[in-house]
Amino acid sequence: MINFGSKGCGIVDSSQVVIEADGLVKSYGSFQAVRGVNFKVFQGEVFGLLGPNGAGKTTTMEMIEGLRKPDGGRAIVAGYDTQKALIKVKEVIGVQLQSTSLFELLTVEEIMRMYASFYPNAVPIEPLLEDMTLTEKRKGRVKHLSGGQKQRLAIGLALLNDPKVIFLDEPTTGLDPQARRTLWDIILRLKERGKTIVLSTHYMEEAHVLCDRICLMDQGKVVALDTPRELVRRLQSDSAIEFRLQGADESEEGRTRMLEELHSIREVKGVDIRKDVYVLYTDNLQTSLIDLIERSAAGSMELADLQTRTATLEDVFISMTGRSLKEE
Ligand code: ATP
Repeated sequence: MINFGSKGCGIVDSSQVVIEADGLVKSYGSFQAVRGVNFKVFQGEVFGLLGPNGAGKTTTMEMIEGLRKPDGGRAIVAGYDTQKALIKVKEVIGVQLQSTSLFELLTVEEIMRMYASFYPNAVPIEPLLEDMTLTEKRKGRVKHLSGGQKQRLAIGLALLNDPKVIFLDEPTTGLDPQARRTLWDIILRLKERGKTIVLSTHYMEEAHVLCDRICLMDQGKVVALDTPRELVRRLQSDSAIEFRLQGADESEEGRTRMLEELHSIREVKGVDIRKDVYVLYTDNLQTSLIDLIERSAAGSMELADLQTRTATLEDVFISMTGRSLKEE
C-alpha cells in the first residue's frame, strides 16, 4: 500500500484498483476524439484528467461512467465492466456533469428530495446540504443560485446515493476564485472521507492543489501520468526565467541567433518562446540570472518585464506537446 496522500488526509490504496480504462477509443464521425486511453485509478485518490479544451477528457469520463459507448477498449469500475454491468456501476458512482440543467423553478431542498426519491438508500439531505454549504439556500429557487452554488448543488445531487467513486467534470469552470476555493475544500473533504474522485479540469493550479495523480491529456491521448511533483520534476528544471526583449531582431534569422545565445546561458536546460515572451528553464536560478543580466548589460539584448518563478504543470504540458493548456 502506498500513501500518495499529501492532499488532505485520505489514504490512497494503490493495491486496490477502482477504475481501469483499458484502450478506450471513441470517434465522432470521422474525428477520433479519444485514441486509446489507458490508466488505473486507485482507491481513495483524487485522479485528475488535465488537458486543454477538446483534449477528450469529457468523452473519456463519460465512457467510464457508461454514458457513452466506446468504439474500442473497455472501462472497469469497482470490478464491473461499464458496458456489461451498467446497473452495478451506477450503484457505486456519482456523476456531476459538465452542464447540469437543473429544474430552475424548484427550491434547493425540493430538487434534493426529488433526486433522493430515485434511490432506495439515499443519504439524509440535511447533512448533505450542510456539507455543500447550501443550508441557507435550502428554500431558494435554483434559478436564483450563483454559479458556484449551482455547482455545489450538482455535486450534492451526485452524492445522494453515497457513491464510492465520484466523477466531477470541470466543476469549477467559470467560477470566481472564492467559489472555486469553496469547491476545492468540498472535494478535499470528500477525499478525507475515503471517496475516490475523478476530476477533469483545464486549470493546472486546481490539478496541482487537488490531485494525487494527474493524467495529462492532449488530442485524445495520455501524454503523461504521475504525481504533480513527479511531472514537474521531469522537466529537470525547477525554475523559469521569463522576459521580453526590446528592439530584438524579429526576423527568422534574428530569432534563431537569439535562441542560440539564450541556450548558451550558464545552467540553462531549455528555452521556449510563447508569443513574445522568452522562457528559460534552469536548476540554478542565480547563475543563469546573473549570466543573462551580464549579457544584457554588455548590450547583446535589452530585457523587459523580467521575472522568475517556479516551474509548473503548464511548463510540463508545453514541453511535452508544444502547446499551452490555456486557451489563446
Ligand atoms: P472540454 O474541456 O472542451 O469539454 P474535453 O477535453 O472534455 O474538452 P471532449 O468534450 O471529450 O474534450 O471533446 C473531445 C473532442 O470531441 C472535441 O474536439 C469535441 O469537439 C469533440 N466532440 C465531443 N463531443 C462530440 C459530439 N457529441 N459530436 C461531435 N464531436 C464531439
